[in-house]
Amino acid sequence: MKRTKIVDIFAPELIGNQVSVKGWVRTRRGNKQVQFVALNDGSTIKNIQIVFDMAKFDEEQLKPVTTGASIHVIGQLVESMGKGQTCEIQAESLEIYGTADPDTYPLQKKGHTFEFLREKAHLRPRTNTFGAIFRIRHHMAIAIHQFFHDHGFFYFHTPIITASDCEGAGQMFQVTTKNLYDLKKDENGSIIYDDDFFGKQASLTVSGQLEGELAATALGSIYTFGPTFRAENSNTPRHLAEFWMVEPEVAFADLNDLMDLEEEFIKYCVNWALNNCKDDLEFLNNMIDKGLIERLQEVVKTEFVRLPYTEGIKILEDAIAAGKKFEFPVYWGCDLASEHERYLVEEHFKKPVIMTDYPKDIKAFYMKLNADGKTVQGTDVLFPQIGEIIGGSVREESYDKLMTRIEEMNIPMKDMWWYLDTRRFGTVPHAGFGLGFERLLLFVTGMTNIRDVIPFPRTPNNAEF
Ligand code: ATP
Ligand code: MN
Repeated sequence: MKRTKIVDIFAPELIGNQVSVKGWVRTRRGNKQVQFVALNDGSTIKNIQIVFDMAKFDEEQLKPVTTGASIHVIGQLVESMGKGQTCEIQAESLEIYGTADPDTYPLQKKGHTFEFLREKAHLRPRTNTFGAIFRIRHHMAIAIHQFFHDHGFFYFHTPIITASDCEGAGQMFQVTTKNLYDLKKDENGSIIYDDDFFGKQASLTVSGQLEGELAATALGSIYTFGPTFRAENSNTPRHLAEFWMVEPEVAFADLNDLMDLEEEFIKYCVNWALNNCKDDLEFLNNMIDKGLIERLQEVVKTEFVRLPYTEGIKILEDAIAAGKKFEFPVYWGCDLASEHERYLVEEHFKKPVIMTDYPKDIKAFYMKLNADGKTVQGTDVLFPQIGEIIGGSVREESYDKLMTRIEEMNIPMKDMWWYLDTRRFGTVPHAGFGLGFERLLLFVTGMTNIRDVIPFPRTPNNAEF
């Protein structure tokens, strides 16, 4: 008999049919006459209730049916008298696939802290909360592909191993097959990579942007969506050493096109969650964060604030003059701390903010210089609770201006001739951004620690599982 997934079992036309379900036991309770099992198979947050008439089963048979055990039940689907469910299964047969010893299975029914569950990351997808989160994660990945596909962007695969080190000096994980106990060095003590696997120093990518620009200046509009690695030793609730980044890059786009794309894209993804993840969002709204769904609906409706950095600094200075205290100083040229960003987003505007036109000295070399010679066309999208969710910019398309910035900033470009070719041959205005997939998931799920929206988090001192 064909198995029915629990997500499909609540269809009214199935009532009265014999069904076969397979899944993991969440709870069992009852008495000598009747036993109730809540069964979940991961296809939905909902459990199906299975009723065992103890006139037909003996006690010994149900003993191994404990929290975490996997079972197969065949029975009749009937309307339910009980509160909170529309139907239940009257069990006719029971097969046990695997038991879960109650003395050692860590996920007993009482509520666990997220810290505890992080240590059980291999089993936590079996909890309601993490089941919901990882289903939402899937749906958001689909949303991303759907959005770009519908807008004529091509999904382009940029390399994970890279030999260009201009992006995040000091933040890269090296990739080597060299014997670390016996490194070949030159007379200055520098390691010689000639005999390493790639014949030069190689690392895991911190961004696919540079290769994305190559693709955008050929295919027009592209996006990447893949794993990204940063060896930043910042132990925060918003940073991972391995995370997923979405990076669209668009030829012939200017600053307004870029901001429009950022705003439309985020709204599309949030709206997708509201439409496709209803049950899971309702669960998270009830259990984790009562304001979640309202916040998501709000973001889809509101127009994001577009705020030049210089105006942002003025607002912060005015706030300080009026008595607001910040830990870090505010002055034109400073890199905003998260307390400043949060003040603007959560207290001043109470809306997402796209901040633009940053001082050139705090932004990357490839950002397009404004006519003032002081600011660049960079954008950060700042979100309530999350802080920066997107970092993007218009790219400097002029070869000469780009080279000037590279020299001013001492960027090592010796292996970057291929990137400069975009500006040497048929250069065009273009722009793009990077969105941290897990930051988006933090917003959509209402979770507060980034370790809880990726199945197997990698952070300083942690690469378990
Ligand atoms: P932050 O200032 O928050 O450290 P960043 O300025 O280093 O971020 P970018 O280089 O602009 O980030 O990367 C683009 C996007 O990637 C960010 O807006 C953010 O959403 C995400 N991101 C960056 N670093 C991380 C990280 N370590 N873990 C998870 N997401 C990240
Ligand atoms: Mn940034």
